[in-house]
Amino acid sequence: MPRKMGSKEYMDYVEKYVVQTYHPLPIVYSRGEGVWIWDPEGKRYMEMLSCYSTMGLGHPAHPEVLRAFVTQAKKVGISSGAFYNEQLGPFAKELAEFCQMAKVLPMNSGVEAVERAIKIARKWGYVVKGIERDKAEIIVCENNFHGRTITVISFSANPKYKEYFGPFTPGFVIIPFGNLQALEKAINKNTAAFLVEPIQGEGGVIVPPDGYLKKAREICQKHNVLFILDEVQTGLGRCGKRFAYEYEDAKPDILILGKFLGGGLGKVSAAVCSEKTAGVLAYPEDGSTFSAQPESLAAARMALKILVRDKLAENAFEVGNYFMKRLREIRSPLIKEVRGRGLLVAIEFKPEAGGARKFAERLVQEGIACKETHQYVIRFAPPLIIKKEEIDWALKRIKKVLAT
Ligand code: PLP
Repeated sequence: MPRKMGSKEYMDYVEKYVVQTYHPLPIVYSRGEGVWIWDPEGKRYMEMLSCYSTMGLGHPAHPEVLRAFVTQAKKVGISSGAFYNEQLGPFAKELAEFCQMAKVLPMNSGVEAVERAIKIARKWGYVVKGIERDKAEIIVCENNFHGRTITVISFSANPKYKEYFGPFTPGFVIIPFGNLQALEKAINKNTAAFLVEPIQGEGGVIVPPDGYLKKAREICQKHNVLFILDEVQTGLGRCGKRFAYEYEDAKPDILILGKFLGGGLGKVSAAVCSEKTAGVLAYPEDGSTFSAQPESLAAARMALKILVRDKLAENAFEVGNYFMKRLREIRSPLIKEVRGRGLLVAIEFKPEAGGARKFAERLVQEGIACKETHQYVIRFAPPLIIKKEEIDWALKRIKKVLAT
């Protein structure tokens, strides 16, 4: 019988053989059930990160998503854009209808969908708006996170993501997040688009002032600038509505989705286009071998069905508000603020508390799988199926860690 490996050995292998671009906390995911995961030694943890919002239905994959995925995977492999398959059309129709948008450009990862939104915006700028060729500008925000390709880190505000990777892609203008005057001031005749996260997830779960998105959209419309929302992390129920922009009725010209789009099993992202942007890209201006894997699309279709049928956004709204309310009741001199929307929740610690990493490590010891984001913030993003009793279980441990 092959020798059984333990957590330490799995972690040692990663250290030795994997290029270390992450700083993982010491849990080896071995198996899961709903909001729970177990390591190889049988220790149980509550999933409070959900692979940065990807595992909305918990672990392992939801049985219906798994069935849809496997049924399709048994039928045919990847067909490429050279031919049609039985999933792409229905997936695009269902997603477009779900988003109330016109067309879908499927991709694999979040950052690829962001890249496509940038391509669409630039071409739209040249052929529709009439910007002089190669002069298009896209406005983005300080403290953004849109992924890690060279173009996307070109406008990252985090020096650690870009220090050694220049030269960078030009054509981006960075303004403060949440500042409408800065947006209006940054717009000029070459501005093609404003690209923004409705809530900055990686940036520390920063919720902009009320009315910001709606007003930003109006400013964009007034100046003939595309309004692009990156809802890779905040979309599909996470923030207690189908999309975070719905809190302000700020529907974008391009909506970028990823993570939970594949239902926690498929690997699929999308740039979802309004009528205004749907016809901009044409053959052969884009493509990707893996961008429409039939089994991933089958998983995504089932996940969308479950999201609506099981009222997961509504659950995220109710349980998320309960979670935030109970966190705010904790009287701790270490906490600066509790904030978030739906089940995207953060505790920001005061600087004198000594950094969020040590609290994440203590929470892991107590059986909560969560992680710090930025120096002083812990983000909680449990599966959308989580119940109040399970939140109570977590609250008990969070209180204990904050009290010691
Ligand atoms: N956009 C946002 C808002 C994200 O949070 C992320 C990932 O965390 C991305 C884009 C990049 O997605 P991916 O890691 O799938 O490329």
